[in-house]
Amino acid sequence: MTEAACDKKVDIVLEGMTVISPVSSGKAETVTVIDKGTVAIGCGKILYAGPSPAPPEFRSAKKRIDASGMIALPGFVNAHTHTAMTLLRGYADDMVLMEWLEEKIWPIEAHLDSEDVYWGTMLACIEMIRAGVTTFADQYFFMDAAAKAVRDTGIRACLARGLIGASPDSSRALQENIDLYKAWHGEADGRITVMFGPHAPYTCPLDFLEKVMAAAEEYDAGMHIHLSETRGEVEESKARHGGMSPIELMDSIGLFEFRTLAAHCVHVSPKDIEILSAKGVGVAHNPTSNMKLASGIAPVPAMLKAGVKVGLGTDGASSNNNLDLLEEARLAAFLHKLAENDPTVIPAGQALAMATLGGAKAMGMDSEMGSLEPGKKADLILLDVNKPHMHPRHDLISHIIYSARADDVATVIINGQTVMEDGVLVGVDEQEVLAKAEERAKALVAKA
Ligand SMILES: [Zn+2]
Repeated sequence: MTEAACDKKVDIVLEGMTVISPVSSGKAETVTVIDKGTVAIGCGKILYAGPSPAPPEFRSAKKRIDASGMIALPGFVNAHTHTAMTLLRGYADDMVLMEWLEEKIWPIEAHLDSEDVYWGTMLACIEMIRAGVTTFADQYFFMDAAAKAVRDTGIRACLARGLIGASPDSSRALQENIDLYKAWHGEADGRITVMFGPHAPYTCPLDFLEKVMAAAEEYDAGMHIHLSETRGEVEESKARHGGMSPIELMDSIGLFEFRTLAAHCVHVSPKDIEILSAKGVGVAHNPTSNMKLASGIAPVPAMLKAGVKVGLGTDGASSNNNLDLLEEARLAAFLHKLAENDPTVIPAGQALAMATLGGAKAMGMDSEMGSLEPGKKADLILLDVNKPHMHPRHDLISHIIYSARADDVATVIINGQTVMEDGVLVGVDEQEVLAKAEERAKALVAKA
């Protein structure tokens, strides 16, 4: 069906709610509030988002949702996670990053199989949908299985095969990333995007990164990489590479010529920030993970000021330990106020914009999602605000960031399809997912 024909068909109309959304063309913190609004959806896209009454062509639809007393928001974007790590939630906590990785996480990950990743990703997907996350960026293993979970739950995702260039099977892993691209890029009604996933400069030698870049060029794909998460990683890079930080090093080899999504960017210099801004690198800021692993505080206010595209991520569930993006938005606001000794830093509107449009920008997908604007994919959520902690209604943007909870999310629409309605998941047997994930996690721990 052509888009023009599509535009005439309204599938869902939501009415009566407050519509809150960042604006693509606005400044980082520009968020609009429409008190009594309407959102019309057709062919998976937003056809109208504005005041009620909507123009006549957007008033009748196959399905009408009376959303009085609710807030409609663009879905949250989790710009960095490792979804199947839900199976390791609570398995190893309160440890130093390298010991945590080397003694606990990497050894148990060696036993993972595709069944584990499928059920771990299913668990992650339903947890995220319940928390209003409509898109996530994942970098992990057995990504075919992760793609199937994305297909089966209705969520949107950017998937990358995590590539450890220093490992003996790095060529096979890169081939798996290529195969993932061929099999899944654009699949599940366009909900799946495939990127390349070099893990980090300290796990990927430069000659391996050259091969990854060649593949990304061939398939016109983006990159998802961890950069400058710890101080030790930056010092090691400088010692090994003629004084260059991981960001300077990646810039020098041309990695940022690809659409790059960089997780963490905690220990960055003013020069690093300049590079991130000039090269349009997206940054996924993970405040909970950075706090839990005591990695440090990313200079997010300075990055935003320099025009860096900053979104928010949960990181994997074993360093968080949940996938609640709303919590990340609140903690980002709190952490940077404390770090800067300035309560005006990261106001609520800016935190909300980072959780939605900021993540979309960081992933290079803001022309498609991140705000409630005509022409964008219909990825939106309804928050039920008829609750004690959401009254009185002085400022709803403030309430979303400083008072709302993940379980205030009542309804989730992704790609124009309802995947949760009034708290009930559509087309997924939630109890089966919980039971299977529990079973796989127990069996995995028994192997370690
Ligand atoms: Zn990570």
